Amino acid sequence: MVAGTSYHKGLEVNYGQKIESKKDLKESEVLDAVSTEFDSKIVEVEEPKKVKSSVKDETISISKHYHETIAGTIQPKEVEKKIEVTFGNVDYNLIGYVDLITDNGLVIENKTTARTPSSISVDHLIQGSIYAMSEGVNQVRYDYAVKLKTPKVVTLTEQITEEQKAFTLTLLGEVDRAIQNEVFYPNRSNFMCSRKGCGYYRECEKKYGGRVRD
Ligand code: SF4
Repeated sequence: MVAGTSYHKGLEVNYGQKIESKKDLKESEVLDAVSTEFDSKIVEVEEPKKVKSSVKDETISISKHYHETIAGTIQPKEVEKKIEVTFGNVDYNLIGYVDLITDNGLVIENKTTARTPSSISVDHLIQGSIYAMSEGVNQVRYDYAVKLKTPKVVTLTEQITEEQKAFTLTLLGEVDRAIQNEVFYPNRSNFMCSRKGCGYYRECEKKYGGRVRD
């Protein structure tokens, strides 16, 4: 999460000013923002000294690669746009932040990943569908910065179909119903579920039993 947040910070700092200036910042300025964000956030993890220095190096490396290859091709219109939407079948406002909207109306989500993606995950599709509905568009582009020794950015564009939007709305309705009825279940198959990854594992084991993996 620290790596992802820091990577996003670099993009936000650059594109935030580019809306008006129409120019990218210098690479050193972007990387400085990434590094500063990383240092300020890493102290919040449970055992910061155990985080390998390579995590920061990787984050700087993908930020550098993105700046060299993608930043120059994008003119942003809005950055980290807060959306607050109400859908007919749920009782609450859904708040989200759209990473990037270009001056020609393209919605872009920026992601970091350890592996080269060949398709868009269901989670990302649901998120993209919400943004597509709130922005009134039918496609979302996902720019995946892949944390390899030689970093790369994989760009995948997905048409957000009416079926996908309908599925997302149904899912939101079901989640709303679960919240209203206080029906929660532990998601122990999630990739972030582990004793290292979840600060609530003790409470979770106490309430639901079983043993959270190391
Ligand atoms: S340990 Fe944490 S992540 Fe895993 S199921 Fe429990 S609350 Fe969810």
